Amino acid sequence: MKLLKVHWLTVEEACLKLLFNKLNEFAVEDSRIEILEKLKREVENCKKCPLWKTRKKPVFGEGPIDAEIMLIGLGPGYHENIEGRPFVGAAGKLLDKLLELAGLNRAEVYITNVMKCYLPENKASEDEIEACTPYLDKQIEVIQPKILVALGNVAAEYLFKKFGLKRQSMGKIHGKIYRVSSLIIQAEIIPMYHPASALRNPPLRSVLMEDWRKFGEHLRRKSQ
Ligand code: URA
Ligand code: SF4
Repeated sequence: MKLLKVHWLTVEEACLKLLFNKLNEFAVEDSRIEILEKLKREVENCKKCPLWKTRKKPVFGEGPIDAEIMLIGLGPGYHENIEGRPFVGAAGKLLDKLLELAGLNRAEVYITNVMKCYLPENKASEDEIEACTPYLDKQIEVIQPKILVALGNVAAEYLFKKFGLKRQSMGKIHGKIYRVSSLIIQAEIIPMYHPASALRNPPLRSVLMEDWRKFGEHLRRKSQ
């Protein structure tokens, strides 16, 4: 009888422990969502660089809080500025096709940019990048992606610098996998040509497609 009681208590304790763990997981998840929501509100009110003057809607980024893959572009263009969402213009349409080539879809990746406000001239100064990238850093810290896909030179340069890799031209690094680790995160960086550069320079399109196809193979190997 005594043994039965001990056994019963153990089961009860195990159930309680499971419940506590689950509640704890939910609490951690909730607090991560809260941190990102607070950060998003900060971006909406941000005036840390002059780009706030020409923004309609800032583009914070979107995707699952626990996404394993984060795509990082340069910054919002005309359509993104109106909609407040990343990659909704022509480059975004190509990006959707590239994701499909890798066996992915938008809903499972987190998509954001180095810059959160509209870039009227499609470029950002060093000062503007310095002012804005703490937001990206925080997104990386909270989401903890396992793979960071840098879309274009600016994102690749930023990530290479952040993780202490030597700066190299996109021609040399595109499609390759760079394993990095810091106190905050362990991840793979994969630099890719920006989809918009393939729209401007059609011969790049096949290079980009091949890189994304290989990226898909890499993902399948990893999940085996
Ligand atoms: N180009 C980018 O770099 N980011 C976007 O969100 C859209 C176009
Ligand atoms: Fe702030 Fe970034 Fe927008 Fe500049 S681009 S105003 S730093 S959110």
